[in-house]
Amino acid sequence: MKIYNTLSKRKEEFVPLEEGRVKMYVCGPTVYNLIHIGNARPMIVFDTVRRYMEHKGYEVNYVSNFTDVDDKIIKKAVEEGVDASVISERYIEECKKDMQAMNVKPATTHPRATREIGGMLEMISTLIEKGHAYMAGDGTVYFRTRSFKDYGKLSHKNLDDLQGGNRSLLVTGEDQKEDALDFVLWKPKKDGEPYWESPWCNGRPGWHIECSVMSKKYLGEEIDIHAGGEDLIFPHHENEIAQSEAANERPFAKYWMHNAFLNIDNRKMSKSEGNFFTVREISEKYDLQILRFFMLSAHYRSPLNFSAELMAAAKSGYERIVNTVGNLNYLLENAVSSDLTQEESALLEKAGVYTDKFDEAMDDDFNTADAIAAIFELVKFINSNTNEKSGRAYLEKLKEEVLTLSDICGLVVEKKQEMLEDEIEALIEERQAARKAKNFARADEIREELLSRGIILEDTREGVKWKRA
Ligand code: AMP
Ligand code: ZN
Repeated sequence: MKIYNTLSKRKEEFVPLEEGRVKMYVCGPTVYNLIHIGNARPMIVFDTVRRYMEHKGYEVNYVSNFTDVDDKIIKKAVEEGVDASVISERYIEECKKDMQAMNVKPATTHPRATREIGGMLEMISTLIEKGHAYMAGDGTVYFRTRSFKDYGKLSHKNLDDLQGGNRSLLVTGEDQKEDALDFVLWKPKKDGEPYWESPWCNGRPGWHIECSVMSKKYLGEEIDIHAGGEDLIFPHHENEIAQSEAANERPFAKYWMHNAFLNIDNRKMSKSEGNFFTVREISEKYDLQILRFFMLSAHYRSPLNFSAELMAAAKSGYERIVNTVGNLNYLLENAVSSDLTQEESALLEKAGVYTDKFDEAMDDDFNTADAIAAIFELVKFINSNTNEKSGRAYLEKLKEEVLTLSDICGLVVEKKQEMLEDEIEALIEERQAARKAKNFARADEIREELLSRGIILEDTREGVKWKRA
């Protein structure tokens, strides 16, 4: 399995630090609003990386944080006249709903910055002790960038170029810094802001130190993969490396993976530009499986432009797979024989080629575009090599292959059959009878069964009503 490593600017063979295990950290969103579909790109892409690794037999410890203390969160809290935690709690919950709707698996751990302050104080103290950080007069603690000799190794920037060429980027008016390149680890509170006590001042952490600390706590000092959108390479990830390696005195992450942007009209989709769609908005127009399909139809390191045309293409591509699985289910219901014929065995062997192609594409730095093309080839093969005479064992094997490959992409391609009205009404009647007989356990069981099949019951004065979820 090869991974393009931003650190070496090359594709490298993936060798985990510990056999059979992967320790992976993905920078998560700042929670002050509903997530937009640009934020959804790293979620979908790295969830697919995780799924493929799990499919290959790795045990993946996947950590993705929520940044729940930040200027934008505080600003929104002031606007609404509530505590900052009310805002972050609300949008963490909403983000989790969106993730679930996009079939993004929950992380092994979703740490929150505000619950990890102790670890941050500890790491900042270590950095001060080792001469990599210092406190300025107002209690702000800065990282002494020039004390870390490898600074710039991820973004491939040269320290002097940074200071000379990009002064405006780095000089932010903080005249207490020893050097324009130094960045904040801890800053004093302003009026009305959330704060924590520290040896330096009552205040809050800088953004970069949060990820260094959460990664260390939940994955250890040295991890396999650190990932996020390409806008995080500099300064966020560069600063994380400086902090972690200076404090721990060992390498931080072995592989650095970055997704390219999701654009709109060829400009980065972002909250600050105002040119974004939230995942929630998109879900009103499209099944989010189509959004997922759309994201994976491009390689994660290629920019992707969002458009109605591409979403329409994604819809028809996704439906092509769904229809094939639907046909297989139809044939399975009506299949006469269950044994595998010699001819069918030979065909199954041929169909195995598509799994090999899929794996080959995924092994090449997670080329999901080619992996999906392999699923299409399999679908075409199935459509032309199955009919009413096909045996059950043969059909089952083909179905298993297409479901396995789709599942690695997080695509749900088997639609459960909708319940028919007669069936629903009959169960409702049975539930009413059970209630009359005071058999509440059975009545509850029926309600649960209906719910699991997408039917919601409502007990009203006019009787029981139902609707589809
Ligand atoms: P933020 O909440 O801005 O810190 O972003 C959370 C994650 O979404 C980070 O990994 C960003 O790099 C990523 N991200 C934000 N906007 C986009 C975009 N338009 N396309 C791809 N990734 C993005
Ligand atoms: Zn981060």
